[in-house]
Amino acid sequence: MEINGFSLLDLGANYHEKSILVYGESNEIIKVPFIGVVIKLNDLIVLFDTGPNIDGNYSIMKRFSTKQSDNQHLINQLNLLNLNIKDIKLVILSHLHFDHAGGLKFFRNTNIPILIQKKELDYAYNPDWFYKDVYYRNDFDFDDLNYITINGNYKINDNLKIISLYGHTPGTQGLMYHSKNNKIIFTSDAIYTLENIQPTLRRQGFDSCTSMWGKSANKVILKNKFDNFEIYPGHDPEFYSKKRFAPYIYKE
Ligand SMILES: [Zn+2]
Repeated sequence: MEINGFSLLDLGANYHEKSILVYGESNEIIKVPFIGVVIKLNDLIVLFDTGPNIDGNYSIMKRFSTKQSDNQHLINQLNLLNLNIKDIKLVILSHLHFDHAGGLKFFRNTNIPILIQKKELDYAYNPDWFYKDVYYRNDFDFDDLNYITINGNYKINDNLKIISLYGHTPGTQGLMYHSKNNKIIFTSDAIYTLENIQPTLRRQGFDSCTSMWGKSANKVILKNKFDNFEIYPGHDPEFYSKKRFAPYIYKE
């Protein structure tokens, strides 16, 4: 990655009912993309989310027909940017659902810090019954991963800030990126699709706490409305069909 900016990674997709994204929508099966983000700020190269561990073969992957081609493996997506795992200086994990946490295994024994909300790491070991099939210890339970747990918002530097967006899970967090050309809030699953907030709020079909989700959705809406942050949602098929992916770099 020769220039500063950000790049979107195509890490595969689930195929499931639209009603999981937007409550009350149809049961039509749609393709739901997995997104990773790499941000380069001079020497600091940050990865936000890691996609699924397709070799895990988890039961949920059968139900959602989870797909990840060789080209969509985290390693190969990073290679499109001429990056290897060891070039990543910081991993930020939005939450520990299988479609976001599966690439953590590549960071074992590397000592690369992984920023995560403490609440999320705790919850992943003992999720509610309705969430048991989306958390897999095989994704995250390694004592040779360098977790750094935080509580709430956290400023990394003037360009990057973590924002807590609880509700999709107890410890979901988003990433705000501010540079010359970009003012973006990467929400991950705190906002699945823009349809969940525009033109009006529409609850998601799969959250741990809808009440907390509503408060986090409002935080995102306010950042967009009054602070001009562009919203990059977690799994919006339409939104990402119009975006360019690695090796393309959106300049800083
Ligand atoms: Zn999720």
